[in-house]
Amino acid sequence: MKIMSINSGSSSLKFKLFEMPEEKVITEGVFERITFKEEGIYTIKINGEKIKEFLPLPNHAVAVERLLKDLVDRKIISSLSEIKGVGHRIVQGGKYFDKSVLVDSWAKDRIRELIDLAPLHNGPHLIGIEAFEKALPNVKQVVVFDTAFHQGMEPEAFMYAVPYYWYTDYGIRKYGAHGTSHQFVANEYARLTNQDINKLKIVTCHLGNGCSLCAIENGRCKDTSMGLTPLEGVPMGTRTGNIDPTVVSYIVEKEGKTAWEVVNELNKKSGYLGISGISNDARDLEDAMAEGNERATLAIKIQEKRIADYIGSYYLYLEGIDAIIFTAGIGENAKEYRERICKRLEILGVVIDDEANSQRGYPFRISAPSSKIDVWVVPTNEELVIARDTMRLINE
Ligand code: ADP
Repeated sequence: MKIMSINSGSSSLKFKLFEMPEEKVITEGVFERITFKEEGIYTIKINGEKIKEFLPLPNHAVAVERLLKDLVDRKIISSLSEIKGVGHRIVQGGKYFDKSVLVDSWAKDRIRELIDLAPLHNGPHLIGIEAFEKALPNVKQVVVFDTAFHQGMEPEAFMYAVPYYWYTDYGIRKYGAHGTSHQFVANEYARLTNQDINKLKIVTCHLGNGCSLCAIENGRCKDTSMGLTPLEGVPMGTRTGNIDPTVVSYIVEKEGKTAWEVVNELNKKSGYLGISGISNDARDLEDAMAEGNERATLAIKIQEKRIADYIGSYYLYLEGIDAIIFTAGIGENAKEYRERICKRLEILGVVIDDEANSQRGYPFRISAPSSKIDVWVVPTNEELVIARDTMRLINE
């Protein structure tokens, strides 16, 4: 059966059409720079050949319509009725979801209710779900939550030191994100190195437009850098990461904005984009840094310092680290970023092999034999996890 796996990010929509249960990828691709003023980029892989097109992508619905039309026009499938299920990655499941579920109006209402907690994601996810509902009304859809894996955290890791009733009355706590990715790459690492996941201490670094780290012990999440929302943690493409909340009230008073308007700027105008004033894209920053742009260099340095800080704190919390894993857009592709981060980890005994670090496109070890911590790049495959869960739930 054919299952479509959808991963709508803040500015991207990745898709993979699987033949299940064989787990064979029929076609895959990505719409990038969605919502950007400039043209978006649409890439689709057909029979190993990558076709790239530039087109306006004002929102995620335009991307979905284009994708479904293309599948038939390019004869990848003979008709849309071949698609038996669509699975979606959802960033925020709050307290409602500790596992994947079939989409119904209750699930959609809960995802909508949680938009405040994931302003860059839950909105685009719903647009994606509803665009598929419209185009494929008889096809079952499944939602797979990024927060589910992080339900394993102990209260000392997920609680904030705020008035306790904020937690009991409002659910204020750390939920984390990217859980599907962290769990997948950790399990893949154990599988690829023939080790038992139940005996490993791993730090996974999901570095894409959104960035988060996860401390994993015995296959369970012990701590993660994102919080109530994906805003917490390390600086990202457009997000600030950790900040003193007093900054919000200060800017509210100085600029006459509401608190939510300021939080919106912390989500959408900060991070790489805010510091550099150039772009939220790691490639643009790397280019600007190569040309000697000081603010681009600073944006990268701030982020890399904070990533190293997290890894250092997880080293203590886990009482040692067996492996560090890089994944997602930056983690998988940007060897300069990995090299600079690992340089900051030398005190922990991390040693990188430059040649090994230059590989790309498959899982590989980047640490030298003398390294005290095994360091790997493991491409994430949230889409596969989504396809597996979708097949299981539509068959139940
Ligand atoms: P999202 O969080 O939207 O899913 P991705 O995981 O696709 O994001 O990561 C996007 C980030 O990865 C962007 O900052 C992009 O610049 C970066 N990236 C992708 N390819 C490369 C590359 N070849 N070199 C450096 N950075 C890259």
